[in-house]
Amino acid sequence: MTTIYNFSAGPAVLPKPVLQQAQHELLDWHGSGMSVMEMSHRGPEFGQIIAEAEADLRELMGILSNYKVLFLQGGATSQFAMVPMNLLGDKGVADFVNTGQWSSKAIKEAKKFGTANIVASSEDRNFSYIPDPAAWNLSADAAYLHYTPNETIGGVEYQWVPNVGEVPLVADMSSNILSRPVDVSKFGLIYAGAQKNIGPSGLVIVIVREDLLGKAGKAVPTMLDYKVHADNDSMYNTPATFAVYVAGLIFKWLKAQGGLAAIEAVNVAKSNRLYQLIDASGGFYNNPVALDCRSRMNIPFRLHDETLEKPFLKQADAAGLLQLKGHKSVGGMRASIYNAMPDEGVKVLAQFMAEFQRTQG
Ligand SMILES: *Cc1c(COP(=O)(O)O)cnc(C)c1O
Repeated sequence: MTTIYNFSAGPAVLPKPVLQQAQHELLDWHGSGMSVMEMSHRGPEFGQIIAEAEADLRELMGILSNYKVLFLQGGATSQFAMVPMNLLGDKGVADFVNTGQWSSKAIKEAKKFGTANIVASSEDRNFSYIPDPAAWNLSADAAYLHYTPNETIGGVEYQWVPNVGEVPLVADMSSNILSRPVDVSKFGLIYAGAQKNIGPSGLVIVIVREDLLGKAGKAVPTMLDYKVHADNDSMYNTPATFAVYVAGLIFKWLKAQGGLAAIEAVNVAKSNRLYQLIDASGGFYNNPVALDCRSRMNIPFRLHDETLEKPFLKQADAAGLLQLKGHKSVGGMRASIYNAMPDEGVKVLAQFMAEFQRTQG
């Protein structure tokens, strides 16, 4: 059987040892006689699982004690509404950088709750770059600034953290959380849907500075109030218990890899391998993103001859290289190479791409 490598943008590949451990423990977690799926979220077993998951995430990311870590549901998309509902407060205005489809969705949703001021947009060049922060048109009194550190569809990633002074920085880190070290203290709130670098879909993790809690208006539903979840240790209602458990296993796996600095080095090497191949292909392959903000996680590319895209995907599939089709809105190809994609998978893809060019170029 051919080894399969899954380049899906999400839900995405998970580390094999983690899946094997989950399989091993599926029917009987640590001698409890129960599957994690069957346990009360209020029992001591799950209490240990979620506490360890939080502690390991705090250790990995260096999250300080004045931040709450929330394990919520509804994916990252629910946060497009929860963030403005909870953080707009009396100010009623938030700033947004629009660098692609995910930022655009966050902006659209925020407009339901207040004013979304777009400080800069890269839509003029098909979301292929990050607007120069020196020219951002910041509001005088924004409740927060929202940006998308990695645009999963466009393959555009900030290699720096915006500096907006005292204005709380809010980041949708869904597709690059845990892929590199970040200084959490620079952020007011970080959120990330789980299904790229954390674990099973549905779970969304929110890391929020405590002083930002408690600003939700009376009309905000209880389930959408961060403070309620913070005060109840993410157990106001039943959390996504199995997803939290798998996320916890991933955090332990990441620690065993050497943590975020170590995984960053791997991610740099993996992404460089593909970009170098694309750049050296003499235009046979091309990536449209500005060099200073190419994503290490999602690498979109096109073939110079569009009619070769179908055979490319077909042959890739036959070679065990799956889910390389680009997002339907942009076409072409996209290789998503999150933390769990082994270097070997990227090597095999690069060899396949070189061989495809040799035979079809
Ligand atoms: C995948 C993704 C989302 C949407 O996540 P859901 O869990 O499907 O709601 C939002 N933002 C970014 C940057 C993403 O990559």
